[in-house]
Amino acid sequence: MLYRLKDAGYAAFLVGGGVRDLLLGLQPKDFDIATDATPEEVRALFSNSRLIGRRFRLAHVRFGREIIEVATFRGTGVTASDTPENGDHVIHESGRIITDNAWGSIEEDALRRDFTVNALYYNIADYSIWDFTGGVADIDQRVLRLIGDPERRYREDPVRMLRAARLAAKLDLNIDAATAAPIPGMASLIDDVPPARLFDEFLKLFQTGHALASYRKLQQLSLFEHLFPETAAGLRDDVDGRFTALVEAALANTDQRVAEERPISPMFMFAVLLWRPVQRLARELAMQDQLSEAQALMAAAAEISSRQSRRIAVPRRYSLPMRDVIQLQPRLENRQSRRVRRVLQHKRFRAAYDLLLLRAQVGEVEPELAEFWTTAQEHAGDVSPRSDEPRPRRRRRRRRRRGSNGPAPATAH
Ligand code: ATP
Ligand code: MG
Repeated sequence: MLYRLKDAGYAAFLVGGGVRDLLLGLQPKDFDIATDATPEEVRALFSNSRLIGRRFRLAHVRFGREIIEVATFRGTGVTASDTPENGDHVIHESGRIITDNAWGSIEEDALRRDFTVNALYYNIADYSIWDFTGGVADIDQRVLRLIGDPERRYREDPVRMLRAARLAAKLDLNIDAATAAPIPGMASLIDDVPPARLFDEFLKLFQTGHALASYRKLQQLSLFEHLFPETAAGLRDDVDGRFTALVEAALANTDQRVAEERPISPMFMFAVLLWRPVQRLARELAMQDQLSEAQALMAAAAEISSRQSRRIAVPRRYSLPMRDVIQLQPRLENRQSRRVRRVLQHKRFRAAYDLLLLRAQVGEVEPELAEFWTTAQEHAGDVSPRSDEPRPRRRRRRRRRRGSNGPAPATAH
């Protein structure tokens, strides 16, 4: 594909995370291509392509199951975040109108990227690396350095602060001092980032195998409280240390599951992160409004979930099951046999059980309670209506794929 562009007389380079990962000796996730051909020219060259993006059009070229993104060099006049997936969420610099499709030279394209290690171009014509910002040296030193003046670049696009935390965590790079220094002071700019864009960043931070490292970096840089204000408050006055332990165990478990290529869901992560804030508000509501424990928990889960979604737009397909997982907790604390079967059949039982295991692990509930439900499931598995099927356990597993994301019984300690 690079050669097709080249043979047609265009410059074509591999760029971005793929080149960076190769040079770091890591397995690249995907490759992006940068070219001086306009999207329309790319479109004309590849019948298997289509143009996407409203503000910054680029071409997606399909190869079997893979889609390669081909972007035309952008000019430096374009200062806000303008990556394809962010195309709908461009942050304007105050008063600045971002013009459409401001194409530029390769050097301009390099300068408007975020970090030096992300601005390396691999030229297939002669296998050379084009480096306009010192990215090769930074890869050698394992340094993550923002291109240009850090404060200005964070103001242009505050998500770059999150990207700094994420890439440092994911790639185990040191953030250059001048790149890190302004972050805590500017962290509140995150509050103005559209919640939908923060959900995308949340997925990259917490669902791609380096959640615990990301979390620690975000805390170090005072960014975490802007993504999860309620959680951060719960962690700040976590006198018994249990919520901290719960959160860290869940993050570590999720990383382990990703490493083992087992399914995960953001729904579970949100349930864990919001668990303490919900519990706390439920206690207040129960006292104030004389609600039953279950009613208070339901009201608190709705309220905290709605507060959280002002920061991070959690799609309802995750936020509703998340509330179920939270609301099931008191029902799991009840062992009356008539109810047990009903709870076991609940669509979110597995995820709720996973949260219960974590709570037992950090000493919030008796270990016997977790064991009770472990045993109850095994029994139910034997006599479930599905036992006529050849592999009832398999089925159970599959349901879990969509739902849960906690530690499997076998891996929970
Ligand atoms: P990953 O390996 O996690 O995908 P990445 O660096 O490839 O990391 P992408 O979001 O895929 O991240 O972005 C591709 C490239 O676009 C980056 O390497 C960088 O050059 C540029 N880029 C992405 N986001 C920004 C931003 N907010 N500001 C400037 N440049 C950006
Ligand atoms: Mg990428």
